Amino acid sequence: MNSASALPVLRAGSRVAVIGGGPAGSFFVLHLMRGARAAGRRVEVTVFERRRFELPGPAGCNMCAGILSSRVVKGLQDLGLRIPSSVIMGRLHRYVLHWRQTTVVIEQPDPAREILSVFRGAGPKQGGLTPDNSFDAFLLSQAEAAGAAIVPERVLEVTFSPGEPAIVRTAHTQASFDLVVLACGVNTRPPTLFGMNYQKPPTITMAQDEIRLRRPTDPGSVHVYCDEPPGLLFGGLVPKGDYVNVSMLGHGLPGRGLDQFLAALRARGVLEGEPERLCGCRPRVATGPASGYYGDRFVAVGDAAVTRLYKDGIGSALETARCAARVVLEHGISCRDFERHYRPVVRSIYHDNRYGDWLFRLWRRVKGEGLLSTVGQRTLMVEQQLAPAWRTHSRLLWYMFTGDAPYRSILLGLLSWPSLRNVLLATWRQPIPEVSQNP
Ligand SMILES: Cc1cc2nc3c(=O)[nH]c(=O)nc-3n(C[C@H](O)[C@H](O)[C@H](O)COP(=O)(O)OP(=O)(O)OC[C@H]3O[C@@H](n4cnc5c(N)ncnc54)[C@H](O)[C@@H]3O)c2cc1C
Repeated sequence: MNSASALPVLRAGSRVAVIGGGPAGSFFVLHLMRGARAAGRRVEVTVFERRRFELPGPAGCNMCAGILSSRVVKGLQDLGLRIPSSVIMGRLHRYVLHWRQTTVVIEQPDPAREILSVFRGAGPKQGGLTPDNSFDAFLLSQAEAAGAAIVPERVLEVTFSPGEPAIVRTAHTQASFDLVVLACGVNTRPPTLFGMNYQKPPTITMAQDEIRLRRPTDPGSVHVYCDEPPGLLFGGLVPKGDYVNVSMLGHGLPGRGLDQFLAALRARGVLEGEPERLCGCRPRVATGPASGYYGDRFVAVGDAAVTRLYKDGIGSALETARCAARVVLEHGISCRDFERHYRPVVRSIYHDNRYGDWLFRLWRRVKGEGLLSTVGQRTLMVEQQLAPAWRTHSRLLWYMFTGDAPYRSILLGLLSWPSLRNVLLATWRQPIPEVSQNP
């Protein structure tokens, strides 16, 4: 439902429904409340969230590897929030890439850009963590403290009619709202939106699990493997306190890909015996933008609109939520306002993803067989012997793994002189530097 006429900005007393209390929904509320307070307007916000983040396992979890990029950490600081120490499971300062016989240690290039690991819910299903450990519970509690009412129900449908407030229905309630913000992610069917042409983003399925640590490891090191099973781009072991998150990214991964990945780690001696698998899920991740993600009195944020390809989805949830909150306070809530002031932000994420797609395709080639692969391996090994400031490819891999830089800047870095110089060094220097042994 799109009108050419303008609808005013949110005024004092305007009612806003936020469907979904994951990061995008909570970030939207936090930015909206902050902006409204600064403008001297009191808006009424209701967040509908059916999940209970204080529960362990899938019931309380929005299913992700739980790496927070530095822009999320900074975004929270900008909101005046400090992530409680009980929520922080790890401070990541090193990635170790295991690639065939090669082990490449990638140190955090800029310690000021902090990268954290967290649990989205209260940890693995069979773990012993508490509600205090959940990142999403922390965010939602901050949204509540900022003044939002939380309704623990699933929204079933919303009806938009020209010139009228929208009607939001759950199984037990029905209420009218001046603005509806869809922050429902991509892992549930969105509510039926009568009067809108919303189509959720295309997705692919991933696999992940949590295992218990049998022996102490460095809590700040993520180990990345890329050899098995076929189709794997990266498989990561992300430390989270007494546990490790195991997640895989790839195309056409076999149905039992996680089993094969863990078996390969056992064969390498990385895991002792059969790992104790404590959770396990096959969440979906968006690979493109939604369509019809805004209209009169309607805007979708976070994954429900667009996400950063494969990495830092929480960062893009923050970016879209912050922008949408600004638009409804400063410009208006009509389709035209979102078209002019919100769509460019969604498109910039989508455009950057194209560079990301290109980089992941390149990585697939590099990690395969042949000349490109040999040159790639040699370059990383040669860089290990250079001063940290000269390790251009290692640094770029850090940003790929953490999602802590736009894909475009990673690609430009790859095409830069320091990058080419290291490739030349690796190609001309003979013999190939001694290869360190796995694991
Ligand atoms: C395997 C995997 C690993 C990932 N790893 C990372 C990572 O390490 N770092 C990172 O930044 N990102 C990661 N992501 C992406 C990240 O999980 C998402 O980008 C992020 O969760 C998006 O936040 P959101 O609020 O838009 O959606 P979600 O987190 O999915 O939240 C949506 C919320 O809406 C609620 N909801 C849905 N429908 C309704 C309804 N009808 N009524 C009421 N409530 C509803 C749900 O219960 C949920 O709480 C990963 C994704 C996957 C699949």
